[in-house]
Amino acid sequence: MKIKIAVIGAGLSGLNSARILSERAKVVVFEAQRVGGMLSSYCRDNYCIETFYHHFFENDTYLINTLKELNLSGKIKWKYVKVGQEYGEKIYSLTTPLEILKYPGMNFLEKLKLIKLVLSAKRREFNEYDEIGVIDGILNEAGKELFEKFFLPLLRSKFGENYREVSYAWLLARMKLRSNRNFKGEKLGYLRHGFWQMIERLAENVEIRNERAKISKFGKWKVNGESFDVIIFTAPIPELDLNIRNSLGLPKIRYQSSICMLIGMKDSFSDIYWINYSSTSFGATIEHTNFMPIEDYGEHIMYVASYTTPEKIESIRDEMLIDLKRVYLKELERFGLDTRNVKWSEIFKAKYSGPIYERGYMKNIPDYRIHDGFYIAGMNTLDNYPERSMNGSLLSGKKVADLIIKDFSL
Ligand SMILES: Cc1cc2nc3c(=O)[nH]c(=O)nc-3n(C[C@H](O)[C@H](O)[C@H](O)COP(=O)(O)OP(=O)(O)OC[C@H]3O[C@@H](n4cnc5c(N)ncnc54)[C@H](O)[C@@H]3O)c2cc1C
Repeated sequence: MKIKIAVIGAGLSGLNSARILSERAKVVVFEAQRVGGMLSSYCRDNYCIETFYHHFFENDTYLINTLKELNLSGKIKWKYVKVGQEYGEKIYSLTTPLEILKYPGMNFLEKLKLIKLVLSAKRREFNEYDEIGVIDGILNEAGKELFEKFFLPLLRSKFGENYREVSYAWLLARMKLRSNRNFKGEKLGYLRHGFWQMIERLAENVEIRNERAKISKFGKWKVNGESFDVIIFTAPIPELDLNIRNSLGLPKIRYQSSICMLIGMKDSFSDIYWINYSSTSFGATIEHTNFMPIEDYGEHIMYVASYTTPEKIESIRDEMLIDLKRVYLKELERFGLDTRNVKWSEIFKAKYSGPIYERGYMKNIPDYRIHDGFYIAGMNTLDNYPERSMNGSLLSGKKVADLIIKDFSL
């Protein structure tokens, strides 16, 4: 008789493990909200686009191979994009070596120090720095000026006010992973016309129930009262009942939350894809149509992204989101956005959008196999360090599926 597996969450990790295991076991996926999870899309009349900005990198090989397997590799589009930074209420492109050299936000010596730090990150064992805070690490090695002028805006745009808790290991690992830029900028990939196509294909032969899963254990594992031999948990750990969490010995992992405004515009805001800000309540703008062709959408599209805490997100009621939109648009006017150009706007939020990579995080990363038929895939696994990614989530789903195939001789 086939074993019964419950997968909690229909994001990339849940869908990928379910897709692989469905051939060998009875698999049911439980999804509390939307199939696709963090990679869900929002649809206008003539196109669909991710509610949160998404792109991938050349070293995301498992994702690229999965797209091939799903017959979607013909839709992969690569492009060198421009990145920028606000300084003194102005936006500067920091894409080419010449632009970086001319950037007035740092002096020549500070730029040299920065290059030295980036190069040294490539050679370091970053896990040795897991207990050191990012602020102490930078102040120690790069100094106060460079911290304030360069790292602080980046950390704020990535973690909001949670940046103070982040480990130096995370920064070094991140620099190691993302320092392969050339003089044209950073090469990014996207699935032309949207990642919803990948979600649809991953979900094709998978049984999905639109139910919030409540897990219990009475001898066997139960999900919403139904017995299962195996649980694959891919949702954020705080979503798991505290008693179960404690009985499995899972660590307390803190999360950050995301708020993303998406706007449709008659004209382009700038020619830069990704801009970090230092004087606004949001952290970055990501102009999607500076990456993908405007013909695919018939209008210019831009994300306005910020990170906050689950406590703050909970206190934001839906009517307050309208005020937030106004605040973001007003702030963007200072950088040249003509709000008469904005055709529509939508705001999306996620309470647990990623773990905070705080001091000591690495030793808390759970194994894939926890205990007695309980497995973990998704954002908390090693595949998603130092950055949660589509590649990491898909890969964790594959690793857990392979482990279960071996453990149960499927
Ligand atoms: C703002 C933002 C930008 C990003 N940008 C990029 C990018 O550019 N490139 C990149 O590679 N990655 C990016 N990511 C990361 C990427 O989206 C995620 O790593 C990936 O989609 C996570 O997949 P997952 O399956 O691990 O988790 P999730 O997508 O979070 O899936 C978990 C699912 O579990 C469901 N769930 C929760 N509780 C329950 C319950 N009790 N019962 C049933 N279901 C439950 C949730 O609704 C969710 O659908 C970004 C993420 C965010 C938030």
